[in-house]
Amino acid sequence: MSGTAAERVGIDVGGSAIKAGRVGADGSVHAKQNWDAPHFDRGPAHVLDGIAELARSLGVRDALGIGVPGLLDRARGFLIESPNLPNFKALDVRGELARRLGLDPARVHVENDANAAAVGEQWLGGARGERDALVLTLGTGIGGGLILNGELFAGEGMAGEVGHVVIAPGGRACGCGRAGCVEQYASATAARRRALEAGLPKDAPGDLKRLTELARTADGAERALCFEVGRDLGRGLGPVLCLLDIRCFVFGGGFSAALDVLEPGIRAGIEERSYGERQHSVRLLRATLGPKAGWIGAAKLAF
Ligand SMILES: [Zn+2]
Repeated sequence: MSGTAAERVGIDVGGSAIKAGRVGADGSVHAKQNWDAPHFDRGPAHVLDGIAELARSLGVRDALGIGVPGLLDRARGFLIESPNLPNFKALDVRGELARRLGLDPARVHVENDANAAAVGEQWLGGARGERDALVLTLGTGIGGGLILNGELFAGEGMAGEVGHVVIAPGGRACGCGRAGCVEQYASATAARRRALEAGLPKDAPGDLKRLTELARTADGAERALCFEVGRDLGRGLGPVLCLLDIRCFVFGGGFSAALDVLEPGIRAGIEERSYGERQHSVRLLRATLGPKAGWIGAAKLAF
């Protein structure tokens, strides 16, 4: 395999797998490849070697995009720190990959993983063609990437981090060091915990798939819990509407499969925390690229 000038390799560093692919300027996907179960515990050099190998096998030529989880110095392509990868600190991702691959460092684009996924969804997925959108990932936490005027808006690097909007001051402790963040109430992990605490569903406490099925079919305790979780999510989105007047929210990640049963709650939460008639024109959409969103977006950013 070898890439042409009109193709870019994109890489997505996830907690359990590193996914990659080669994408044409027209959005056509030419190749994809995963590195399953990388040994992050063997340290950054080992992982960077593996990423370089992955990029080479996909035929990387003169440019590369990579999405990494954590706090970045975007201008320099540095990973400052990553809550999920504790031994990856102050890492020159751009420089290290450029050196390993013989690329000009300016052609290695390093982006936050949620931002990369948002770019992917806006290019080819559920947010396709949207001018303004917030793309959320409902997983272990809640990731967010902001599209404004058709382009990624990253601010100094942390824009779109809606998972850490505080909805319950003094509430549950969060990995970010504060308390009451929306991801402690409405991520997949949080929803599972809430279901377990409530003993729901009765036949399989904490099973989100089953919970969702039951919420869909009957107006019972499962539906009520999904409403509560959705409302907490909406409480985190209300401020987004107030500040940016974004009417399009796109949901990815495993728990987005429950969007239909979360939607009434999300709308109630948004209504509670924003004003004006505009809540009624808010669109809640599903992401469509699944686990490909991150590397497709990373590739797009490398064009
Ligand atoms: Zn937090």
